[in-house]
Amino acid sequence: MTELNPNVTALLLARGFAELHDRVNADGGVVRQDAGMPPRLRRGLALLSGLCLAEGIEDLGASVHVAMDRACEPFSDWGIAAFRAPFSYADVALVDREPGIPTPDCRELALLGGSEMAAQEDIHHTALRATVQAFPGRQRDRVYTAIREFIVRHPAVAYADRERFVVEGGLVAAARAIASFYRPVPAGTLFDGAAKLCGHCGSLLWPDRDQVAYPDGRCRIRQCRLAYPHPACGADITSPAEWQLATAAAMAYWVGPGLDEIRIHDALRAAGRDSVLYPQSDAADVGVDGSEIGIDVKAYASPVVLAAKLTRSIGRFALFRRRILAVPDDKLRLNPRYLEQLRDVYRGEHRLEFMTASQAIRALT
Ligand SMILES: [Zn+2]
Repeated sequence: MTELNPNVTALLLARGFAELHDRVNADGGVVRQDAGMPPRLRRGLALLSGLCLAEGIEDLGASVHVAMDRACEPFSDWGIAAFRAPFSYADVALVDREPGIPTPDCRELALLGGSEMAAQEDIHHTALRATVQAFPGRQRDRVYTAIREFIVRHPAVAYADRERFVVEGGLVAAARAIASFYRPVPAGTLFDGAAKLCGHCGSLLWPDRDQVAYPDGRCRIRQCRLAYPHPACGADITSPAEWQLATAAAMAYWVGPGLDEIRIHDALRAAGRDSVLYPQSDAADVGVDGSEIGIDVKAYASPVVLAAKLTRSIGRFALFRRRILAVPDDKLRLNPRYLEQLRDVYRGEHRLEFMTASQAIRALT
């Protein structure tokens, strides 16, 4: 009976939220419960209402705003029995609350739900690749790596430092594109007119409603908060008008996943390994000894969703002789069977080694 199928409901909601976000993004509009709502989202909400009615609980599908708020939590926390384990997507949250954009899990579920749609991640990557094309062939890989690494290492940056990077790196032809990955420091991050750097990732700390527990605010990068449950305050920025912050999409798709990429790369370099970030214009996140070893870091909440994505395609990761798929250490804290489930569900043609980021570092140093 389709009406009460939690899988179909989850897939439709994932596609619906992804389409809604793309539409709002393209039109610069706001989320409204009106005729402009994507039909799949409308259908997903109707199915959600059906599940709620069947379980005799509050109707979460009646309002897109209520459903979206719930979608920032894993399905298992929605208060719906059908969404708890053994439901395949129980650990998936569809929306990343702070930037308010679909999570990578949501994008992947949306793909499972039917025909391909342009992922926000791809739009971002396309912009960087197009920029890199303006450089002579031999320079392109170096330029790609330099720009992406700079953004990951400097999610918040002073204009003057960014200018210096552009000029000294010979990247003037990419200056506009680099600027497009940044925005002015949002007023909402300020504490009495000053901003604070996150001591862990170099992004900004945002004031938190709970000022007692978080007097210096909290980092909004999901991976940073998972890896470091206790906030750390870095330098104070007393002239935030002279600074910029990476865009929400750059944060979600580059900076957040980049924390582990940089950690692995830096550890391998420190151990004397020949490690490169984003080799061959992003065939992998980290490359060791040319195309000998490739490491890709994936931070999906759900091993089932990640395995499905990898089974569909690993793209140019296949170029490496040995392929290590690393997941953030905290995945195992939340789900001790994460790697096991990943191995069980992966059905791709290419051999992959699944490990945590720390295990990958140990294996290669
Ligand atoms: Zn942080």
